[in-house]
Amino acid sequence: MTVPQSSYIEAFVSGMLHQRAEEATARMEDCDLCPRKCHANRVNEDLGTCKTGWLAKVASYSPHFGEEQPLVGTHGSGTIFFTNCNLGCNFCQNFDISHEGYGVEITNSHLARIMINLQYLGCHNINFVTPSYVIPQILSALIIAVKNGLSIPLVYNTSGYDDPATIKLLDGIVDIFMPDFKFWDPEIARQVCNAYDYPEYARQSIKEMHRQVGDLVIVNGKAVRGLLIRHLVLPDNLAGTREIMKFIADEVSASTYVNVMDQYRPCGEAIDTDNLNRGITRKEFYNALKAASSAGLNRMN
Ligand code: SF4
Repeated sequence: MTVPQSSYIEAFVSGMLHQRAEEATARMEDCDLCPRKCHANRVNEDLGTCKTGWLAKVASYSPHFGEEQPLVGTHGSGTIFFTNCNLGCNFCQNFDISHEGYGVEITNSHLARIMINLQYLGCHNINFVTPSYVIPQILSALIIAVKNGLSIPLVYNTSGYDDPATIKLLDGIVDIFMPDFKFWDPEIARQVCNAYDYPEYARQSIKEMHRQVGDLVIVNGKAVRGLLIRHLVLPDNLAGTREIMKFIADEVSASTYVNVMDQYRPCGEAIDTDNLNRGITRKEFYNALKAASSAGLNRMN
């Protein structure tokens, strides 16, 4: 199979990328880009829940070899970790980045240079980690990066707390969507990250992502387009694994590439939270895998 051209090249040529960047940037004045809908004026540096104003803040960037194999290939996934978060789970394993603001503000042209450097290092994709609240900066930087030769696929690596209306802005631009689906029960989502509406937004945004890019396409061992869903198994089935797997199989696609993850450990504030203050057992992980196969999913990581 031949490798398809990254979607955003055509969007750049047609002018659509410029339009989407302008539209996203205009929304920063009364920000409703993510489900929090804080209506902060980020142009004037008012900060909403994501604590991010006019400029994106970056904690680190590098070729990353810990992602799923189709993203890593031989030269790594070009990961850019954005500081802060619009979801803010109390157990986050990157608590210093997501909650404590570790990182530096950068301009859009600096962000473009980072993308070009990662491509120069041989990375197979640009992997934006927690991009939901910096879409305007990403789109604006992308214009500069394309002018300077960026051509590798873009990965939108998100918590899943996205507004489908905002995800529509990425249609024809993002190549690979990689959302988490973290919690099924709104009450658990409220307790862990004060986001009672997380499950509903995750369902709707994941459906929109799949509508745009379809199932994951892998060419010569490398992901080039499509949807990849991550699910972190939590103690005492707090994540609602069975319901999530059934939703993915029945309402997205039984051929969705799903990574059921076993690495939960209590970080951040979780050590003080009932039920979240321990890792998962082997039996809990086994039950999660069984739930995925019983749901009919046929493409597990
Ligand atoms: S992107 Fe940030 S400021 Fe905008 S609605 Fe979401 S949390 Fe609030």
